[in-house]
Amino acid sequence: MIHESAPRTLPPILCVRGPSRSGKTSMAVRIVENLQTQGIRVGYIKRSHHTLDLPEKSSGRIWKAAPSAMLLRTPERTQLNVAAADEAIPSLAATLPGGLDLVLVETHSPEPYPTILSALLEPATDEMVVGRWSLDSLEADAETAAIYAAALAGEDRELQRTVRYAAEFHGGHACAGLVLGTRLALHGTALLGLAVPDRAKRLVVVLETDRCAADAVQAVTGCRPGRRTLRFLDYGKLAATFLDTTTGKAVRVAARTDLRDRATAGANDGEDRHDAQRRAYATWTPEDLFTATAVDADIDQFDRPGPPARRTSCGQCGEEVSDGREVLTDAGIRCRPCAGTHHLWNGRG
Ligand SMILES: [Zn+2]
Ligand SMILES: [Zn+2]
Repeated sequence: MIHESAPRTLPPILCVRGPSRSGKTSMAVRIVENLQTQGIRVGYIKRSHHTLDLPEKSSGRIWKAAPSAMLLRTPERTQLNVAAADEAIPSLAATLPGGLDLVLVETHSPEPYPTILSALLEPATDEMVVGRWSLDSLEADAETAAIYAAALAGEDRELQRTVRYAAEFHGGHACAGLVLGTRLALHGTALLGLAVPDRAKRLVVVLETDRCAADAVQAVTGCRPGRRTLRFLDYGKLAATFLDTTTGKAVRVAARTDLRDRATAGANDGEDRHDAQRRAYATWTPEDLFTATAVDADIDQFDRPGPPARRTSCGQCGEEVSDGREVLTDAGIRCRPCAGTHHLWNGRG
């Protein structure tokens, strides 16, 4: 099955709204320049009624043949052409590449996002006007707008990009557990001095939870059960051990026991407890969030990445058993279920 549009956790969206000849594009240009200079990655959206020009003799003919996607690469830029999406801003923003800090939208019509509004227009009902501009004070107004835009993009943008990436892996929502799992993975790998995601199968993670944080740890580290770089212990604890298979160093990182209570107690006036937790997990120091302990963690020969060290068959059901998971019983070699030592849901006895 092909997913045409994966759920996307979008970066903050800021609109620039004004009529024709109000200096709307000039405002957008200045805001983009200002933010990019600060290292803030801006995506830009504009809805146009014009037809896009493609050279009639070559790419235009290909486009008429209706490919599902068409990429044109020139020395200056790469242009992706896909069929027209619906014009709602979330759909359009989801079509942009990931890793952005802010999406700037040029628009004629009011949108439910913070908006820099031309002085030629009156705010619409419920429009979130966060700045104004007029042609005779465009430079100064653009500078003020850029300050707001930078604040909207946030301070710790690297972490926010990582959280959004993990949220997509998690199915599109950035819950408190996901933020905590992201920090847990970043802290554990930082303590080992390892870059993430790990593509070399150098890092092995042993997870002690199968809740939201588990998805974050997988997204951030790149470790997966199918690569044998992620192992799961059904302990129901928010903790994970990170092992550098090159140096043999390992560290177990665990959430502090009073964490949820402290985060909830720190809620601002009117702040929901989940928001308070999310904010705490995103901003507190690793030492405030976690304990970290160096541990001895050697990987058994049957648990290492690479081809199976042993394959055998169960004498009862006949199914193949790899990696030393068989059990030697009085009746002979058995898989674990046939030997009666494991159950499908092995969490409780
Ligand atoms: Zn979740
Ligand atoms: Zn069997």
